[in-house]
Amino acid sequence: MPGIGRKTAQRLAFYILAIPKEEALEVADAIKEACEKIKKCSLCMNLTEEELCPICFSPERDKGVICVVEDAQDLLAIEKTGEYKGVYHVLNGAISPLDGIGPEQLSIKELLGRIDDSVSEIILATNSDIEGEATAMYISKLIKPFGVKVTRLAYGLPVGSDLQYADELTLSRALNGRRVF
Ligand code: ZN
Repeated sequence: MPGIGRKTAQRLAFYILAIPKEEALEVADAIKEACEKIKKCSLCMNLTEEELCPICFSPERDKGVICVVEDAQDLLAIEKTGEYKGVYHVLNGAISPLDGIGPEQLSIKELLGRIDDSVSEIILATNSDIEGEATAMYISKLIKPFGVKVTRLAYGLPVGSDLQYADELTLSRALNGRRVF
């Protein structure tokens, strides 16, 4: 499991064996239930128990703006801001040739299938690492023929941070992404 090394895994395994059997089985049931009930939203690939996730289903959300993220956790992070009123598209990763992940493994085809006249903007909110950048670049090229506005999240300096401690890449991107105050 991601983020769990051998020692932690061993600690967890022994913990599960030490707690009352009923409690351990509750954990097992929760995993079983999650596996059985949770599937991908047929529109945006977010995780959901229904055919459509609550965001796609909601009449309150602006279906004309699609925010493209790498995974459902990124979606949750943006949702937590409470700032975004559009909908999402979850790619299920980023293009990473070294890990054997090509465009065909991601839900890019499904994203292109969602673009019609009602879509006014696509926000590429993939990570700012090499894979995320390459994925954003790849997708923006595919979207161009549709004539839809494509935007990328602005890069900035971490809130509360000191300029002199920012690395050159972050600082140069923040400079390039500056806006009228
Ligand atoms: Zn959805």
